Amino acid sequence: MPRLVSWNMSHWQKTHEQRLQAWNHLRSLKPDFALLQEAVPQDDLPASRCVFRPGGIGSSRPWGSLVVSFTEDIDAIQRVRASGRAEFDPHQTYPGALAIAKTKSGLTLISLYAVMEHGYAITTLHRQLSDLTPLLDSPQGKHAILAGDLNISTQFREPHRTRHANALDRIGSLGMVDALRMNRPPRDPPTRCPCVDRPCLHVQTQRHPKSATPWQNDYVFVSAALAPNVRACHPIDAGYPWSLSDHCPVVVELTPPPPPPPTPADSPSSAPPLARPRPSPRAAPRTMPPN
Ligand SMILES: [Zn+2]
Repeated sequence: MPRLVSWNMSHWQKTHEQRLQAWNHLRSLKPDFALLQEAVPQDDLPASRCVFRPGGIGSSRPWGSLVVSFTEDIDAIQRVRASGRAEFDPHQTYPGALAIAKTKSGLTLISLYAVMEHGYAITTLHRQLSDLTPLLDSPQGKHAILAGDLNISTQFREPHRTRHANALDRIGSLGMVDALRMNRPPRDPPTRCPCVDRPCLHVQTQRHPKSATPWQNDYVFVSAALAPNVRACHPIDAGYPWSLSDHCPVVVELTPPPPPPPTPADSPSSAPPLARPRPSPRAAPRTMPPN
């Protein structure tokens, strides 16, 4: 049963010791795969089990998004070919804020961080969704899990509430289902949620030092074909994790999905393969950052 954790580890706000504790906590959750944001790979992670852009988001932010495997080697997805069209690099917007990997069982794992830019994350997120559209429309998108800190929520006041709901609808239009909203296992809504949703299906994934609002900025989306396989999706929102990051981990467990549809890379008649790591000045594959 694949078990995944998505977590903004808040690398830049933490001490070396706190970062070690956070990685230890992540391992204690026993995930097969982790989709991490604002993080840096541990030195002992084999390069074949980690997708991360060296240097992270940029010179002032040398941390970024990762996909980590604790069980098997994974392949970085650097380029996409959808329906015979020319290859496309989905890392167009803040390349270090996006990490994409393919597992041996054919899952496409997308770790996404919507960078705040001039006070807006929604503008970054829309560009990232445009970048990801060919991937999610391709055969590789049929068994995809997209998770991370999107920095949006319908808990905000207008006009942001409508704009953020629109972005979440856009993700739905790409064939992705919000796994936290499946409410598996059933849970009570957070107290003091400022949304107008009825029912409220928010979960708290972030604590802000100046706000008592139970903010949800973190999400897990699965392809519609995987939605029946979601056994559980919930935050680890009690106690200890909050000492490690201002976000808490979100866990998703799936029953084993059926084999994914064949990709052009699986077809001997197709031209160049998909989903193979290719050296690129924008996003080198499966390499660790300099220390
Ligand atoms: Zn709510």
